[in-house]
Amino acid sequence: MTALPRIGFGYDVHRLEAGRTLTLGGVVVSRDIGAVAHSDGDVLLHAVCDALLGAAALGDIGMHFPDTDERYRGISSMLLLRHVAALLSDAGYSVGNIDATIILQAPKIKDFVGDMRAAIAAAVDIPWIGYRSRPPRPNASTRSVRGTASPHMR
Ligand SMILES: [Zn+2]
Repeated sequence: MTALPRIGFGYDVHRLEAGRTLTLGGVVVSRDIGAVAHSDGDVLLHAVCDALLGAAALGDIGMHFPDTDERYRGISSMLLLRHVAALLSDAGYSVGNIDATIILQAPKIKDFVGDMRAAIAAAVDIPWIGYRSRPPRPNASTRSVRGTASPHMR
């Protein structure tokens, strides 16, 4: 019998504040405005981590990397993603693809998307990442960044 593919879903949101660095998908996209967070606040990688952990029934990002733990203050979320990828690999899973969305008014990030895809693909060892970005709805807060991710894995 063939094992059914597993699907997960991750969602994250961070408030934006002037004078911080905004890192998305492991890539610095702004040094003028950035996410308020315990870690580097990479909303895309947080959504990806949660989606992968959820698909494997291995808990969530808060369980593995609590924001009360000083070891994770300011940490690169790429390190968290690599740790999650190792957990999946140890559990016998491989990721086929990840589909992700970033919802952000500004800055524009299209010039960074190639680097984000490459960084995530290298960390998780997958061939394909689907990606789109959207501006927020007209009356939604423009002072936040949101990310979603949905992986498919076996
Ligand atoms: Zn987060």
